[in-house]
Amino acid sequence: MKGYLDNPYHSKVHAQDVAQTCNFLLSKCKFIEIGQLDEQDIACVLIAGAIHDYGHPGLTNAFLINSRNELALTYNDQSVLEMYHPSQCFKIAWGNQKVNIFENLQFHKYRRIRESIILMVLSTDMAHHASELAITNSRIAAPDFEPNGKDKQRLMDLIVHSSDVSNPTKSFEIYKQWTEKVLAEFWLQGDKERDLGLPISYLCNRFTTNTAEAQVGFIDYVVKPTFACVLGFLPAYEPFFQNLDKNKAKWQELIEYYKQQLASIQPK
Ligand code: AMP
Ligand code: ZN
Repeated sequence: MKGYLDNPYHSKVHAQDVAQTCNFLLSKCKFIEIGQLDEQDIACVLIAGAIHDYGHPGLTNAFLINSRNELALTYNDQSVLEMYHPSQCFKIAWGNQKVNIFENLQFHKYRRIRESIILMVLSTDMAHHASELAITNSRIAAPDFEPNGKDKQRLMDLIVHSSDVSNPTKSFEIYKQWTEKVLAEFWLQGDKERDLGLPISYLCNRFTTNTAEAQVGFIDYVVKPTFACVLGFLPAYEPFFQNLDKNKAKWQELIEYYKQQLASIQPK
């Protein structure tokens, strides 16, 4: 966890939270049984959850691309951070025998594990969220759907991606803290964009973003469709799915309050 920076949101606590949420979906919601995961699969999911934002600079892919950052140049503007996170981790493993958990694996096994972890981290790129979710939904509905066979990796990808956007599924008290953290990070980026004369990214303008409205949109357009898909193959998730509507109703009640807050901080 050492390489996680001290960002408001993308910190080691977020990584631990995502790994723990993966563990919850694997065990409590029975993905281990449904996907017939072996020890190697389980280790891959937990490692992917733990490393998925390793070295995150607290800035989005769009910012890195627009500001011609070195990372965007290295990864040709394609899933810049999601390429960077596992790349750094595998480099660290192979650069130091003491921490190389892959060293004693047979080569073909190592190749499979490496591929699986990289695919799961790449699946956390929000740019692919809608297209991948549509494919996963159609696989779940297909007569030849095999959660413990040819569809297993796709479902493992969704376990990590859904855990990554799972804070609206938690208790409102916890969720609200994550919301404040993610928006604090976005607004620092927005300040940078304003200073550099770059377009201010979605949700990154501290003077116009209504926190409650943003969360209602995030639940409706991202989180609910994601967990509806999870529910399609993990029926044990059902009692937790209801938190989304409860939390959405709480944010709806707060929209007016945040409107007034925004009105009071308008720049002169
Ligand atoms: P990651 O950067 O890997 O953590 O990807 C997850 C993305 O989901 C974040 O970068 C945010 O864009 C988005 N996200 C997660 N939680 C929230 C939230 N509460 N409100 C708005 N966006 C969120
Ligand atoms: Zn993340």
